[in-house]
Amino acid sequence: MNEFVNKNFLNLNNNYVFSLVSQKVKDYENLTNKKAFNLGIGDTTLPLSKNLCRVMCEALKQEQNKNFHHGYPPETGYDFLKEQIANFYKQNLIDLNKNEIFISNGIGCDITNILNLFSNPTCVIQNPTYPAYFDSNTICGNNIILLDQNNFNPRNLDTTPKLIYICSPNNPTGLTMNYFELKEWVDYANKTKSIILFDSAYSCFVDKNYPKSIYEIEGAKTCAIEFASFSKFAGFTNLRCSFTIVPKQINIFDMNLNEMWQRRQCTFFNGVPFHIQKGAEFALTKLGYDECIKNVKYYKNNAKIIKNCLKNLNFDIISSSCSPYVWIKCKNNLSSWQTFDHLLYNHNIVSIPGVAFGNAGEGYFRLSGFANRKDILLATEQLTKKNG
Ligand code: PLP
Repeated sequence: MNEFVNKNFLNLNNNYVFSLVSQKVKDYENLTNKKAFNLGIGDTTLPLSKNLCRVMCEALKQEQNKNFHHGYPPETGYDFLKEQIANFYKQNLIDLNKNEIFISNGIGCDITNILNLFSNPTCVIQNPTYPAYFDSNTICGNNIILLDQNNFNPRNLDTTPKLIYICSPNNPTGLTMNYFELKEWVDYANKTKSIILFDSAYSCFVDKNYPKSIYEIEGAKTCAIEFASFSKFAGFTNLRCSFTIVPKQINIFDMNLNEMWQRRQCTFFNGVPFHIQKGAEFALTKLGYDECIKNVKYYKNNAKIIKNCLKNLNFDIISSSCSPYVWIKCKNNLSSWQTFDHLLYNHNIVSIPGVAFGNAGEGYFRLSGFANRKDILLATEQLTKKNG
């Protein structure tokens, strides 16, 4: 009777970790009458810059004027923003045609919707990583290869995947791949005719020694799709603006992925509002960029404070310096959840258990630099005092 229902939904893990975290924090706060230091946040917390808001307000105000009212936005974005993005990439010597840039409302949507272009591909995913890759492939009934992020290299594959998910810097671990590590994947993808799906959500946190874009790697234009976002860089997690780059050169037999994505977006998507795209355009100007990067540095410094504190307490820290997150090995053989409870009840600190990001996250936990500085200072101070 129910043959037409997608039964792959039954194979999804319940998204219980994040709701369980909220419930446990609520219970703890009710019981103790205390407000916990929230170092579990995966979202931006600083206010937007004044200039960015001014630009968006001016753009929105235009709608009051009958000569400037905007109807539906173009499905793949306004040229002014595509040109600004192309100029931004040019600074890193990457040439993009504006028809290769698709403005959208979030990596979360595009990196899951991209599966519309493929028919039951086998994919390889870092373990642990952003859970949407795993869930979207599960919903489509695709075969998933999980590769521990410490062994994330094509030489460790037994089966050839058709889709290769790379998140660098990775969420939650912060691990950032260098030129040579990415080059191995690009060469592998070109050789095996597979496609790299490169999630650059955290590229604004990358130090100058690491690639920010997959197109910094020679050969990537024939095998890689890049997903970039204004969420973490410009604080657009609420406003929603991102872009996906599908190079013209990627063909699978006689099908062109750029043309297919164009067709897909025009059918399923109605575009991002004019004033939001104006804000995104401004974020890539010199003034806008400087203002946004100031916030990114604040989050990065928060992560540094957390890292230094835990290092002094002899925790094993795994993260690189290119991330707002700190990825930490649990002590005393405690599980992720046992560590979560310990930090909450003994230190008043909210963390995220590593298992939220895949089974290889068991035995680890994530703390976040997106928290406010005061909370971080108070939390680290009392952690040091109690453990010192
Ligand atoms: N990719 C990764 C790795 C993320 O951690 C997140 C959000 O936390 C996203 C994508 C979602 O990005 P967006 O806000 O552009 O949808």
